[in-house]
Amino acid sequence: MPSAKLTFMFNPHRAAATSRMKIVRIEAHHLANIPIQPPPFRKKPDVEHALVVEIETSDGHIGYSMGGYTHPVIVDFINRHAAPLLTGEDARNIERLTARFHRHSVIRFMGRAYLSALALVDIALWDLRGKALGVPVHQLLGGARDKVPVYITHGAAYGGETAYTPEELAAEARHLAELGNVFLKNTVGRQAVPDPDDDYIRMRAMREAVGPDVKLAMDGNARMTVGQAIRLCKLTEELNISFLEEPIIDNEPGQLRELRAHTAIPIAAAENHKYSARDLLVNDAVDILQPNVTNDGGYTAGLRIGMLAQAFNRPLGHGNGSGPHNIALQAGLANGGLVEYHFHKWMAYNAVFAHVPQPENGYLAVPQEPGLGLNPKPGLIEEYKVRERVSVLATQPGAI
Ligand SMILES: [Mg+2]
Repeated sequence: MPSAKLTFMFNPHRAAATSRMKIVRIEAHHLANIPIQPPPFRKKPDVEHALVVEIETSDGHIGYSMGGYTHPVIVDFINRHAAPLLTGEDARNIERLTARFHRHSVIRFMGRAYLSALALVDIALWDLRGKALGVPVHQLLGGARDKVPVYITHGAAYGGETAYTPEELAAEARHLAELGNVFLKNTVGRQAVPDPDDDYIRMRAMREAVGPDVKLAMDGNARMTVGQAIRLCKLTEELNISFLEEPIIDNEPGQLRELRAHTAIPIAAAENHKYSARDLLVNDAVDILQPNVTNDGGYTAGLRIGMLAQAFNRPLGHGNGSGPHNIALQAGLANGGLVEYHFHKWMAYNAVFAHVPQPENGYLAVPQEPGLGLNPKPGLIEEYKVRERVSVLATQPGAI
């Protein structure tokens, strides 16, 4: 017979009644015009924007997350739906809270906006859980490693600028390599009509600039037909390309599988999904699965996707601007892998957070402090938050 004392200690009703981690505030902030260090070759952009979420609990902890997409639907989703729905709940019950978010979100059929909002709430809750327990999040997720490999993506033109020329790409790649970066990625297929021959010239210029010892990868941003992607792979195989990310329109799984049959270049996908991780795995569509925690439901979803990939003997990688927030997943799971630092977004993280792991000899040291180790600089949210905005969700709070 258990003693009366033990019965008392493990009474779940009693535990709930004495909760010390009641959510008292959930707030999403759209930050705009944050000054960043511009890319080496061009001096634009020199500002970035971001969406930072705070979840505060009754014991004084604050969990943070950040996403690159600041669409008003996502901001409203969190402020007008998640906040009234989850305030007052125990922040430790992440499964219960994310299931509640899902069950009450008819708007989940909006797909990506819903998943991004869910992701940012989930990430902040994991940050809180780590802080409350005194454990870094990568250990809560499994604790597979204390450093993760990183690659730098550069050469993307924004704001109506013309695309980088091969010479500009080469100059920037050489500069980044000279700074000690050993793995670079560039975008392909971004011409008005994707042009594999033009992309080959651009990638060859990069290879010639950095020499044989720097790894190179390509990101198609889901814009090419199978024929265009096969031609690009045939042309670039001689350049020793480490992987090709999201080459096919909409990441259509059958067409990705067809491409894989025609090339030795590893194919990666899952950053931008119309199809689920399950679709990509059961269709044998990828060599590397790339869940992105800030778009796809946070660490709760990332953990499940990662374990599903493990069942299919597929490694994880990461492709998206939110590299620092993906470190914990890639460091947590045994099949975790590469993290992307997209130049502009990397600089935005450096501008927003007090401490961000920086690449060193191709690796990032995983933060060892409780939570995620990603806390905004004091006063930054107040300085850059957009105060005037029009709600795009005209429904009752919590009733979306
Ligand atoms: Mg990508």
